[in-house]
Parts: sequence; structure tokens; C-alpha cells
Amino acid sequence: MAMKKYTLFFVVMSMLVLACTKVPITGRKQVTGIIGSQQVIQMSADAYKQVLDSVPLSQDQEQVARIKRVGNKIKLAVEKYMNDNGYANQLEGFNWEFNLIDNDTLVNAWAMPGGKVAFYTGILPICKDDLGVAVVMGHEVAHAIAKHGQERINQTYAKQIGLSIGAVALGQDPTVSQRLIFQAIGIGSDLALLKYSRTHESEADELGLTFMALAGYDPREAPKFWERMSAGSGGGPPEFLSTHPSHETRIRRLNEALPKALEYYEQNK
Ligand SMILES: [Zn+2]
Repeated sequence: MAMKKYTLFFVVMSMLVLACTKVPITGRKQVTGIIGSQQVIQMSADAYKQVLDSVPLSQDQEQVARIKRVGNKIKLAVEKYMNDNGYANQLEGFNWEFNLIDNDTLVNAWAMPGGKVAFYTGILPICKDDLGVAVVMGHEVAHAIAKHGQERINQTYAKQIGLSIGAVALGQDPTVSQRLIFQAIGIGSDLALLKYSRTHESEADELGLTFMALAGYDPREAPKFWERMSAGSGGGPPEFLSTHPSHETRIRRLNEALPKALEYYEQNK
């Protein structure tokens, strides 16, 4: 019996050790855990479909086209960057989608693992144009690229179920994984948003700046956009502000990361 327990312990531990990846650009080492990338991507695709089926999508063709246009432009630039820099395998299973949900009160956007992005119409007045959308899009694409969802899910999983029981439960109960993704990304009854940590938010800011620049969008718009966001967030704390470092810290970090992003912009504009 004891033997069995130890064996399971070592199996779980070795899975954890193996499931380590490095975030592109920031180089942060992350433990992506026992629920692997492909499983998380599949769970997310199901969850994304479920969410979109339950909300009205925007019928504003011009704005819908804007979200898809900016999304695809950034997607192509990021895919090129990942391929050129030896990260192509991290995009395995990705199937990007960019949708606009008709809700004028939610000043927000989110991304699920595997490249499933959604904007709410409520954020568009702050975005103003393609450039503003690119700031948010870069940030959201960054969450997906850096596998923040997978990290989060595994953190929640480890915490809630306990590692040794978890390894068994996952094999026996398929609904466990489904439930986990909704919990980990914070989608509940009120369709609340992806609740990432401050580390994840800061990383998404930094990567987002690079990604928009790679796609030919002037990254100097980012600090300006977050200024507008900060000034205009009247109705409840959006994802971008609630889990974020203070506004001042955010602007300072963005400005620190700008010179490098501007180099990318000059090469790609
Ligand atoms: Zn975020």
C-alpha cells in the first residue's frame, strides 16, 4: 500500500517537473502542471463555445470586422515571431477566434487558452479605433500565448483537489476538468472574467506591447490607452484594473518596455 502511494507520488512529481515551459520574450519559467496544454485547449474550446452560445453577439458589422481584423493581424505577427524564435511547438492546437459580445456595460475583454478571444462592446469607446483595439488585443493574445490559463488551472487544481488524489480524479471524472476551467478562468453565473494574477497581468502588458508592435501598431498608444481606461472605468473594476499593479506602476513599466517594442515597430510598420 505504502509502495503504491510513493509510486503515485513520484509519477505526479515527475509529471510536474516535466511540464515546465519558458514564456517567450519575458523568459519566465512556468510550471504548466499535470493538466497538459492540449487538454486545456480542448476544455477551453468547449467552454468558449458555451459562453458564446449564451450571450448576444454584436450585430455591428463594422465593429465586428474591426475586432477580427486587428486580431488576425496580431495573430499572424505572433505566429511568425514564434516560428522564427523556436517557439512554434507552443502554438500546437491553437485555433484563434476573435468575437465581439454585445454588452455595453462591460468594459472588458478576455482570452481563453488556445487563442479564444472575446471583447465586449463596452470597451470600444475607450479603444476608439484599430490602434486602441490593438492594445487590448495584444494584451489578450499575450495571456493565451504565455499559457496563463493553463498555469492558473493547474494552480487551482493542485490547491483544490490535492495532487495525489487529483491525478486519479482526472482520469475517472471527466467533469472535474470541465468544472476546473470555469473556476480557474473565473467564468461563473455572471460571466465574470479571467482572473489572472498580477504577475500574469504585468506579463501580458509587456508581451502585448511587443505583439502589437510586431503587427505594425504603434506601441506608444498603450500607455495612452491605459490612461483612458483608468479615467473611464466608472462601472465596476474591469479585469485590467482589478488585478493589476497600481495605475502608476503599470504606466511606468509600460514606458520602460517601450524602447524595445519601438524597435519591433520600426521593423514592422
Ligand atoms: Zn489581462
